[in-house]
Amino acid sequence: MKKEKKTPDLNRRDFLKLGGLASAGISLAGIAGAGLAAGKDTDSYTGWERYTHGDGQFFNRKPFEVDQAPTIKKVAESRRINAAEQLFYRLRIAMPFMRGIKPQSEMPKELVDFYKEHPNDVEDMKAAFKAGQEQRKNWEKYKDRYIIADAWSEAHSKSMRDFPKRPVGKPEESDFKNVNPDTVKFKSPKHASGLMKKIAHSFGATLVGFCKLNPDFVYQGRLRGVGTTKFDVPEHWKNCIVVASPHEWDGLYANPTYGTSYDAYARECVIAGKLEIFLRHLGYSARAHVPGNSYDLAVVPIAIEAGLGELGRNSVVITPELGSNARLAVVTTDLDLEPDKPIDIGVKEFCEKCKICADQCPSGSISFDNKPTKVIRGYKRWYTEDTRCFGVWNSVAASHARGCRICIAVCPYSRKNNWIHTIAREVDPRDPTGIFSSALLAMQKGLFEYPEKAEEYLPPPNGNNKTYHNAPDWLKTEEWCDVDIDW
Ligand code: SF4
Ligand code: SF4
Repeated sequence: MKKEKKTPDLNRRDFLKLGGLASAGISLAGIAGAGLAAGKDTDSYTGWERYTHGDGQFFNRKPFEVDQAPTIKKVAESRRINAAEQLFYRLRIAMPFMRGIKPQSEMPKELVDFYKEHPNDVEDMKAAFKAGQEQRKNWEKYKDRYIIADAWSEAHSKSMRDFPKRPVGKPEESDFKNVNPDTVKFKSPKHASGLMKKIAHSFGATLVGFCKLNPDFVYQGRLRGVGTTKFDVPEHWKNCIVVASPHEWDGLYANPTYGTSYDAYARECVIAGKLEIFLRHLGYSARAHVPGNSYDLAVVPIAIEAGLGELGRNSVVITPELGSNARLAVVTTDLDLEPDKPIDIGVKEFCEKCKICADQCPSGSISFDNKPTKVIRGYKRWYTEDTRCFGVWNSVAASHARGCRICIAVCPYSRKNNWIHTIAREVDPRDPTGIFSSALLAMQKGLFEYPEKAEEYLPPPNGNNKTYHNAPDWLKTEEWCDVDIDW
């Protein structure tokens, strides 16, 4: 006999139980769904910083795009930059004459011209060398306090010595080394830019931008891989990929004695060096221009043309996300890219009122002018006396060549990403009255502590080794090591 199928008899208790299970199931599904969504948010990528997915570049630049950057304006006939106009190239050229190894009569014209235009530079250079000798002598005394900061800096500095590899020979050969002959074709320059942005972020760049190469910003008279030479800008240096990343914030705020430039420099070398390999693997020429005096071009104006930020009074690019705390590298390539545009977020107007960096600069290298007045090679912009600045690098109580960076740390734009800075970042560029920036500045000057005199950053007898903020415990030698600091 066929067995009759029995309909389950659901009583109220069973129904509630089932209902509970169903809603638990729905809740779990909801949680799982929300979890899945949250899992897609790069904030949740444990162990991976947000910036490797581009989330560090969160400011919408579109509404602020302009045709010409307001802080580096072409106002006259322009020209390329002579090597003698770049501090470290100038040092190399000038050294034999300063040491008396070569007679003054053999001084190259570009150096003579530079000194005619900057008559104080020779004295500034002599003072810088003298300070460097003193600094080396005093390191014995200071190293007990600063040896961990020094080791941290050295680890970064030494890691960037061999990568990316320096070009050898003419750019027409060296930039094409290992280039894949089977070039991968992109759907469009827009696709190429989209991919390169993603790849640069994945290599560690917080900010990425693109522009055509403006030949005015290519050095003249010296070319890596070739040496001293007059050269035309190579045709395959068509486009620039500009990348930026910040210094570690604790070290930055504890400048000058606990800070270093090499943490961000080393990161830039890795990013630009990897981009060079990546591009060549797809069949395009590439040359990485990286920190540590390994550039054939001036990276700051190129970063401005690529829309990363604007030039500050401190001669540094001020970006919406990182403020002045953005170190740069550029990769030149023949890959066609869709360029970004310069931006105007009101930095010029803010710097005209602010002057904090000029006030806090221990060398007095930064202009107090109300407006940028200097025309340099055809561009009107703020100007910093770089040799005088170098004198402070050689004076602070750190081991040699660690530098200063106070003008980056004290800049009100160089702040971490909290809600108040988010408001400031979004409201100030949209306020045509300037009232908001004046209020921000008043808050900055009232709430943040600055040494009364900039000389306090220097060692005795002129100062007392002051840092902008207190050093973090992790950089303090006395927290970890058995040292006897008697000063
Ligand atoms: S690095 Fe130091 S000395 Fe040089 S301009 Fe900036 S604050 Fe002045
Ligand atoms: S400290 Fe002030 S004046 Fe100097 S660069 Fe920053 S915003 Fe401009």
